[in-house]
Amino acid sequence: MSLPPLVEPAAELTVEEVRRYSRHLIIPDVGMDGQKRLKNAKVLCVGAGGLGSPALMYMAAAGVGTLGIIEFDTVDESNLQRQIIHGQSDIGRSKAQSARDSVKEINPLVEVILHEERLDNDNVMEIFSGYDLIVDGTDNFATRYLVNDAAVLLGKPYVWGSIYRFDGQASVFWAEHGPCYRCLYPEAPPPGMVPSCAEGGVLGVLCASIGSIQVNEAIKLLAGIGEPLVGRLMIYDALEMQYRSVKVRKDPNCALCGENPTVTELIDYESFCGVVSEEASAAAVGSTITSKQLKEWIDNGEPIDIIDVREINEYEIVSIPGARLIPKNEFLMGNALQDLPQDKRIVLHCKTGVRSAEVLAVLKSAGFADAVHLGGGVIGWVNQIEPEKPVY
Ligand SMILES: [Zn+2]
Repeated sequence: MSLPPLVEPAAELTVEEVRRYSRHLIIPDVGMDGQKRLKNAKVLCVGAGGLGSPALMYMAAAGVGTLGIIEFDTVDESNLQRQIIHGQSDIGRSKAQSARDSVKEINPLVEVILHEERLDNDNVMEIFSGYDLIVDGTDNFATRYLVNDAAVLLGKPYVWGSIYRFDGQASVFWAEHGPCYRCLYPEAPPPGMVPSCAEGGVLGVLCASIGSIQVNEAIKLLAGIGEPLVGRLMIYDALEMQYRSVKVRKDPNCALCGENPTVTELIDYESFCGVVSEEASAAAVGSTITSKQLKEWIDNGEPIDIIDVREINEYEIVSIPGARLIPKNEFLMGNALQDLPQDKRIVLHCKTGVRSAEVLAVLKSAGFADAVHLGGGVIGWVNQIEPEKPVY
């Protein structure tokens, strides 16, 4: 499947540009037309880290006219093993500014736009809407789903990549013409299942292998040449030195780009991906019970108040016997605290244990010292205690 170019060509190339890009211009598939399209292109790179480094450097060299960089972090010594856009003298500097300086050194003709902030629900739509294409170099699941959902909602394509140890993956997600990230990965892995680069390590040069695929696909999409990586997932194994490509189909049941979407706006990605705040994980230490423990307490008639902190529609799908519903926000707004009993132990639960841990932190700081939450949430409860009940 070939697709039309994403970008209209610029009016002309200057003499300086013709000199600089001559090795592109003599490739028939690129030529003046393709190079003029690159000149007119606005590409946003999410992150200036492992994947963002090679992606930004090669896009700059290739003559992509406008490069946006969204990055809030600073350069750390441990980044330099793979984040080659930064150097020794950049340690401690803003990654965005360091990346901009390297881009300008490679190609001063590129216009660089810095977004020195964390990508979030409040800024993503406005930032993305200023660009033709997004290159995703994020390293965490919450941002990955945020990038995907915003791109689909805005009808924009993006080039995705991921890296871990010796393994890399890349694809182009464009819901208009193929699958989105959620078609491939409908659910985020449970927290802690997939270690980050900081925890699991990454071979530095793997970033170049995957980042260069991303740039390759970006150039093809912008110029409208070749077979874009839409509907295909590239899987690279650096130890075996093998590239495989597998077909990825659009999922008609995809929550976002399927026939009956249930995700029609941005959601709470931290909660979706099970990211637990520091306060919540601290509160959960020593105050997390199992489904079996809860079952025992219920059977023994212990004085407990089971509070489900999910939303009403979730409660209607499946609930734990005797649990009453007080959605998480009621606690965060401070409305729910006065209704809690002082003579019973509070047992909180949610779907998987993320939201209930957050509420537990609120309760602990309000003086409910013996409050606990159910590890694994109602999903764990159904799996272990009431397997005949539905899960969602
Ligand atoms: Zn989808």
